[in-house]
Amino acid sequence: MSFLAAAELTFPGSRTEIEDSLASYLASLQKSGRIWGEAVWTWTAERALTVVCLVPLQDSLELRSSRGAEAADLERLESVLDGAVQWRLSGEASLARRTTLEWSRCAAFCLRTDLFDQTSPLVAGDSREPAPLYLLSLDENDQEECVFWMRAYQAHERIWLDSRDLESAAYFQLSHADSELSRRGQAICGRVERSTGVRTYYFLYRYYMVEPRLRDRCPVCKQLWVRPSAGELFEKYLVCDDCRLVSEEGVDASNLPEGAG
Ligand SMILES: [Zn+2]
Repeated sequence: MSFLAAAELTFPGSRTEIEDSLASYLASLQKSGRIWGEAVWTWTAERALTVVCLVPLQDSLELRSSRGAEAADLERLESVLDGAVQWRLSGEASLARRTTLEWSRCAAFCLRTDLFDQTSPLVAGDSREPAPLYLLSLDENDQEECVFWMRAYQAHERIWLDSRDLESAAYFQLSHADSELSRRGQAICGRVERSTGVRTYYFLYRYYMVEPRLRDRCPVCKQLWVRPSAGELFEKYLVCDDCRLVSEEGVDASNLPEGAG
């Protein structure tokens, strides 16, 4: 799904100086979706280190046309290095959409992630392929909001799966449309839709099936869920176009934990 990128950096100055510059550069790349997941790095000599990360496309780390914070951070980093940052890539391109124009023609986006996702929280509505955020018409603040929401969602899922005192509270945040986490995600969807012109849905996770009287209706507007036919967008899911929600039935668990469902 992505490329592994590695760079060996050497520098004449202090470790602290390079650490600060490198951390800012990598953080900017993460927030703009040019890096997926966490970057890792290690010292390989007194004044040398190696950085490794995942990137969505072959040219994701080329910042020549970027006016974002990542370009300024790269300039700052390179001023304390011996030379330019040069990435070596391995892997293969698997995204069907690779340009801003192709992504702008996407029929719909869905804000959706899970604990093990190391790509993008915005996915194509038809294929679920992850959208590199820097290729969408989003400003830096919206890009950052998407990435921060993804991290918060994954933190809640981790707490839920850990099954301790906060299990029910974490599941509530994941599965209720009016939880703070869900409302935050729905607000992001609204901003993404206004910026890109592409319909953007929030994916409301349901592990446990809700009680029968609520099962067939959107939890926000209370209208009946739409169940798309085979071949339609969001096939096999529950959809409310008015509220821009996509959800699922969940499993029929008779022993719901207290406060869940
Ligand atoms: Zn609705």
